[in-house]
Amino acid sequence: MNREYNPKEFEKKWQDKWFSDLSYEGKDYDSKPKYYLLVEFPYPSGPGMHIGHMRNYSMMDAVARLRRMKGFNVIYPIGWDTFGLPTENYAIKIKRPPQEVSAENIAKFKKQILRLGISFDWSREINTSDPSYYKWTQWIFLKLFEKGLAYKAEMPINWCPKCKTGCANEEVINSAHERCGTLVEKRNLNQWVLKITEYADRLSDDLDLVEFEESVKVLQRNWIGKKTWYDIKYDVKDTDESITVSTTRPDTQFGATFVVLAPESEALQKLKKYIPRDRIEEVEEYVSKGVKKTEEERVDAESEKSGVFTGLYCKNSISNSLLPIWIADFVLTTVGTGSVVGVPAHDSRDFQFANKYNLPVIRVIEGEDKSRAEVTSLEDVYEGEGVVFNSGFLEGISSQEARVKIGGYIEKERIGSVVTRYHLHDWIFSRQRYWGEPIPIIYCDRCGTVPVPEKDLPVKLPVVQSYKPADTGESPLANITDWVNTKCPKCGGDAERETDTMPNWAGSSWYYLRYCDPNNNNEFVSRKLSDYWMPVDHYEGGQEHITLHLLYSRFWHKFLYDLGLVRDSEPYRVRTIHGVVLGEGGVKMSK
Ligand SMILES: [Zn+2]
Ligand SMILES: [Zn+2]
Repeated sequence: MNREYNPKEFEKKWQDKWFSDLSYEGKDYDSKPKYYLLVEFPYPSGPGMHIGHMRNYSMMDAVARLRRMKGFNVIYPIGWDTFGLPTENYAIKIKRPPQEVSAENIAKFKKQILRLGISFDWSREINTSDPSYYKWTQWIFLKLFEKGLAYKAEMPINWCPKCKTGCANEEVINSAHERCGTLVEKRNLNQWVLKITEYADRLSDDLDLVEFEESVKVLQRNWIGKKTWYDIKYDVKDTDESITVSTTRPDTQFGATFVVLAPESEALQKLKKYIPRDRIEEVEEYVSKGVKKTEEERVDAESEKSGVFTGLYCKNSISNSLLPIWIADFVLTTVGTGSVVGVPAHDSRDFQFANKYNLPVIRVIEGEDKSRAEVTSLEDVYEGEGVVFNSGFLEGISSQEARVKIGGYIEKERIGSVVTRYHLHDWIFSRQRYWGEPIPIIYCDRCGTVPVPEKDLPVKLPVVQSYKPADTGESPLANITDWVNTKCPKCGGDAERETDTMPNWAGSSWYYLRYCDPNNNNEFVSRKLSDYWMPVDHYEGGQEHITLHLLYSRFWHKFLYDLGLVRDSEPYRVRTIHGVVLGEGGVKMSK
C-alpha cells in the first residue's frame, strides 16, 4: 500500500460526492431551527485567495457542518465585495475595465473555494458591483438622504499636488502618495457625509444587547469614544482675545503649566497677529510642516513630540496662573476644541512635552498610595484619580467632586461649558473615483439637490474607456458628459448627476441582509425572510474591521430598524475575531 498522502487521487471524487449527495442550501421558512453563520465576504484581488481567507472559511465550515448534523437549518453564504481601489488601480495599470478584471478575479476565487470543499450556500451568491445589488445600496442611501442623515459638507481629503488627484488614506504611506512619492496635502472638498454620530449613543449602549467577544466591545466603545469635556475660556494676555481650551480632567486644572493649540486651529488664526515678530517665522514653518502629516503620524504614541512656543501667554481662569501658549501637531482640531491644557504631572504625553521644552511640572492629585511626591520622571506620572491638593478651592476633595464643582463654577461664571463629545465622526461617504456605486443625486439649477426617483434606480456606472481620476480632483465620471448631463426628475429641465461614488464600505454595510433574499427585485430584502433568518447567529471576521465595517453595518441596520424594515435593532448576535495572517517580512497581505 502506498503510504504517501496524495490528495489529487481521491479529493475530487469525494468532493463531487459531497456536492451531489449533500445539500448546503439553507431552506427558507424550514421548521428546523435556523442557524446563520457569516464570514466576511472576500475582496477578490488579482493574486487569488490567501491563507487568511482559507483559515477563516474552513474554521467556520466545520461549525456549519456540525450545526447541520445537529439538526439546524444552516445558511453559510458567500459573495463578493468587489468595488474599491485595488481593482481600480490594477485595472488602470493594465488598461482594462475594472468590470472585466473583477469578473476574472471572482472566477479564480470561486474555483479555489470549490476545491477546498467549503460548504457554502452558492444559491445565495451576491456581488456588490452587480447593478441588481447596488440598486439597493443606492436605495438605502436615498432613505438616509430623505431622513436628513446624508448631507454635503466641506471635508478635507488627501491631495497629491503632482498627480493632481485625491487619494484614499490607504494610498498615503508616510505622508507621501504611494504611486509617486510626493508629499500629500490636505484639501477641502465638498463631499457627502453620513451622520453616524446621531447613532453614537445607541451604537455604544446597545453593545450590552449582543454577545460579542469582550475585546470587540472594548474596541468599538473606544472608537465611539464618548467623553465629557470641560471647555473653559482663558483670556490671552495683552490682547482682547480669549481662547477656549478643553480638558476631560478639570480636577487637574491647578496642575496645568501650558496650553497647546493644534496647528490648524481657529484659535491660532485669531492669535496670529499678536505673535511677536521674532517668533512668527518659526511658528509658520512649524505649522506648514504639521498640517502635512497624517493623523496617525501626529498621534503616534511612540514618536517624539514636537512643538513651538508662540511667545503668547494666557490666564488660567480656574487657577489664575499665567500659562505659555504652544503649538504642537500631536493636538488635532478634532480633539476637544483643538486647544488643550497641558498637565505634565498627570499625563504621560504632556510630561514628555514638558520635559523636552523645560516646562514646569506641578503635582495636584494624590496617588493611590497617598503619595504627593514630585513627578520627576515618566514613571512617576500619575494618570489616575484621587484626592486633589495644591488646588485652591478644590483642595482636599476627590477628582469626582472636583469635576462637578468646576462644571458648576464655569457655567455659573459663564466662562465655559460641559460638553459631550465623541471620537467617532460623521462618515465621509464620497470618493472621487470611478469604481464604486454612483451616488443617486441630481443637481438642478432651479430645484437644487434632487434625489433620483426610486423607479429610476439603479443609476448604473457607465462602461467607458478612460476612468482615470480627473486632474480637477473630481471623479472620473465628471468627464463623461453623456452620463453627467441628464434631466431633472422634478422640473424636466437640464440637470447634472452627482459624480462622486460611494466608498467601498457601502456594499458591505447591508450584505448580510441580502443573503436572506438574494434575488428579490422589489425590495432590498423581504421582511418575512429577514425575520426568518436574522439575526446572524455567529459572525467571524478580522480585527481590522471592528471599527469601520462592523460599526458602519450596525449603523445602517439601526437605521433600517428605525424605518420598521427589519425586526431587530442589532444585526449580529455573536461576533468573534481572528488575528491577521501576515505575509513575508510581517507585512499585511491583500484584503
Ligand atoms: Zn502622486
Ligand atoms: Zn429641476
